[in-house]
Amino acid sequence: MPTVTDRHDRRHDGVRPQARKRFGQHFLESVWAEKVVAAAAPAADDTFIEIGPGPGAITRPLAAHARAVAAFEIDRDMVQHLEVGRPENLLIVERDFLKVTAAEVVEALSRLGAPADRPVRVAGNLPYNVASPILFKLIELRQEGVRIADATVMLQREVADRLLSEPGTRDYGVLSVLIGHKGDVTRLLNLPPGAFRPPPKVRSTVVRIVFHPPMPPVRSDALFGALVQAVFTRRRKVLSNALLAHAGAASAGATRVLGLAGIDGQRRPETLSIEEFARLSDALSDLSGR
Ligand code: SAM
Repeated sequence: MPTVTDRHDRRHDGVRPQARKRFGQHFLESVWAEKVVAAAAPAADDTFIEIGPGPGAITRPLAAHARAVAAFEIDRDMVQHLEVGRPENLLIVERDFLKVTAAEVVEALSRLGAPADRPVRVAGNLPYNVASPILFKLIELRQEGVRIADATVMLQREVADRLLSEPGTRDYGVLSVLIGHKGDVTRLLNLPPGAFRPPPKVRSTVVRIVFHPPMPPVRSDALFGALVQAVFTRRRKVLSNALLAHAGAASAGATRVLGLAGIDGQRRPETLSIEEFARLSDALSDLSGR
């Protein structure tokens, strides 16, 4: 286990800890960090949640432009590093963001005096190994009452492509449907591997997700999520067969569910729009009583 001193990278600013692979650490070079902060477009009365501040390439400029920043970081060494010279409007929370509760987020925001009537914003150069779970976590926090307006996040290019893809394309899948159901996604910036140290093996993209209530609304969000997950595990099959991957649909009768939703069972799952998935989910809800 390296000590804090062992991990200092003296080739750069002399104090920055070295990157840890297991936490998905790839640190932004300052010239690119500025572009990412500009893409987030912080206003003077915005309060941000930052996920994975690392040594603070985004954090410090964000805190300089926004009202306040609550930054959640899993790596204790990074937390210690960030505490040195921390501005007053920056709160560092040592926490695995995937395990954070809505109450903890609200508590952090209230410590920063965030106005309860104004939604918060999210920014982050996400650890790519857990980027999708972090996006789902944001949706979960919103469902639990944390008022998150939007998220400006760095993702692996392929993940951004999936978020932005249309039905019938190769990239269209679980992420496209479940995030697209609750947010509008825009591509803001593409970055080469050289924008980070150490450079990742993949290219990167910053997207903005502007959250909205589920569109269209569904009777059961849990059922909708489980159904989408299940049919995409058999995306090569026709829909009537893929539906068998979902226990509820199998027992309610795939043909009846499809009939009620008015969807042709010979289509492939990846051709269904978000609106059609919502219809399918509500038909299943009607027939299974869930
Ligand atoms: N924001 C910094 C930058 O742009 O240079 C660091 C970005 S680095 C790609 C991802 C950061 O997320 C790392 O600091 C890592 O320790 C942190 N991280 C990884 N998993 C995390 C988790 N589950 N919760 C909170 N932070 C996490």
